Amino acid sequence: RARDPNQPEFMQAVKEVMTSLWPFIEQNPRYAEQGILERLVEPERAIQFRISWVDDKGNTRVNRGFRIQHNSAIGPFKGGMRFHPSVNLSILKFLAFEQTFKNALTTLPMGGGKGGSDFDPKGKSDAEVMRFCQALIIELHRHLGPDTDVPAGDIGVGAREVGFMAGMMKKLSNSAASVFTGKGLSFGGSLIRPEATGYGTVYFAEEMLKHAGQSIEGFTVSVSGSGNVAQYAIEKCMQLGAKVITVSDSHGAVIDKAGFTPAKLAELIRIKNEERGRVQTYAERLGLVYEAGKRPWHVPVDVALPCATQNELELEDAQTLIKNGVRCVAEGANMPTSLDAVEAFVNAGILYAPGKASNAGGVAVSGLEMSQNAQRLMWTREQVDNKLHAIMRNIHENCVLHGKQPDGGVNYLNGANIAGFVKVADAMLQQGLY
Ligand code: NDP
Repeated sequence: RARDPNQPEFMQAVKEVMTSLWPFIEQNPRYAEQGILERLVEPERAIQFRISWVDDKGNTRVNRGFRIQHNSAIGPFKGGMRFHPSVNLSILKFLAFEQTFKNALTTLPMGGGKGGSDFDPKGKSDAEVMRFCQALIIELHRHLGPDTDVPAGDIGVGAREVGFMAGMMKKLSNSAASVFTGKGLSFGGSLIRPEATGYGTVYFAEEMLKHAGQSIEGFTVSVSGSGNVAQYAIEKCMQLGAKVITVSDSHGAVIDKAGFTPAKLAELIRIKNEERGRVQTYAERLGLVYEAGKRPWHVPVDVALPCATQNELELEDAQTLIKNGVRCVAEGANMPTSLDAVEAFVNAGILYAPGKASNAGGVAVSGLEMSQNAQRLMWTREQVDNKLHAIMRNIHENCVLHGKQPDGGVNYLNGANIAGFVKVADAMLQQGLY
């Protein structure tokens, strides 16, 4: 649209959703009434602000902060904060738009939002990260609240950053009400929240395979990324008897034909989370193949789990995966697959799950963290994991319901988009124009 020039990621996300919704809307024209579609592509509020902070050398640094409060039809705005140099309005608007449908799919009462900054936490000291997070909240705090907008983590924002932001939020609001999820366990965090997105993605892949009469047990898997989502996707694959043979980061990919073991994963987590290092170091320490500047998609596998970032799996990668016999692709990241690559998977009859369905486990457990905080209780690992598993099964069933094809197959892309849209649109229609 002329209204949003230079927002390619946002356009891509809107195009994907609208194309897949269109036949449904033609059959159900009431969903085009009251400007539902026009309202859905316009955030309720988009906040942009300056973040000034002082680095360890005493220099003043200035970053740009954002919060996109996209849609609150079914609950308070909810979605992560991303710290990465690439962050801009287009990327956050695409993420907030997707988040709205994803949150609806969880069945929990959460609206959609997303935020972040072009700040790069890499190479910064803990003290610099703390001062930055505090400076960000000094501005953002007035727009947040447990019934207004509840942020969480995303790329570059883990437990450390959430802790610093939640601490400053508490001070400025003079209230201990939790306005972040993904908190540390000592101040209101939920067990299984760090694992939730990765575990949920694998639970979803397993449901898709089961529905098609297969099982992930014994299958080979390629994972991209090596951050929070990738790490726990690898763990759950191992627990279910699958063999993960790749991992990557923004600099290259590691190929390990023998597959991950719990000891190898512990070493990867140590390098990425504690040393804040690269997968190249991991490959060197374990004597594995490292391919600089490469993605892992040329390795033949049964299941592919893109868990790094947007547009990291393009048409050529999809064609290679298909040629090599991939059966199932479940997105752990948000929009990792480009539009033409998605089309290639769908046309080839591959079991393909869009992130809004397969990676909804993270925000689902964030919703469970909000419930525990409101009750001032803490559930056990088993309780949270069982609820997560049940939510992922339910999302799968909902996708099957709305994505069933005449030939008996399931189009998960359409299923997820229609199921998420119907819930948000019904809530908007019932509340009138606001
Ligand atoms: P992390 O910051 O923990 O990890 C991100 C990983 O992706 C790192 O391995 C990083 O490499 C890699 N990466 C980042 N940018 C690029 C790039 N341009 N090219 C190649 N690799 C890249 O983030 P998360 O694991 O939390 O998030 C990963 C994805 O999952 C994102 O799309 C996020 O939106 C999505 N997601 C996350 C949820 C969560 O609960 N955390 C919930 C739902 C979705 P390097 O280390 O070199 O930077």
